[in-house]
Amino acid sequence: MKHFTVKTGSRFEMTDITDRVRSILMESKIKSGICHVFTPHTTAAITINENADPDVPKDIIMELDKVIPLNDNYRHIEGNSAAHIKSSLIGASEMVIIEKGKLVLGTWQSIFFCEFDGPRTRKVLVKLVSAE
Ligand code: ZN
Repeated sequence: MKHFTVKTGSRFEMTDITDRVRSILMESKIKSGICHVFTPHTTAAITINENADPDVPKDIIMELDKVIPLNDNYRHIEGNSAAHIKSSLIGASEMVIIEKGKLVLGTWQSIFFCEFDGPRTRKVLVKLVSAE
């Protein structure tokens, strides 16, 4: 298992981590298999979405904030319930197929680390499973 850190700069943000995952895959020399990307945090998430227009992640963050407002008489005393709920909604991991030594992603797809309670230093774990 490999890991890397993501330093987030604001409360909510989506960071494209595709190149960092890709470099772990290239080092491994695995040609066929599965790449599992996981974040071990309860107020962050991993998702796959469009990388071409930077407004797409901004819109995702904006709409998540409408569905799950920052303050809504939550019971959790730490005051970051919205971040916990967003984390569960988006999910802590993504799985990507590896074929011919490459991540199988659509032309416009990237893997994003989603920060919902930053700024913080976060960890992303990558497990590659060879199926050769
Ligand atoms: Zn909390």
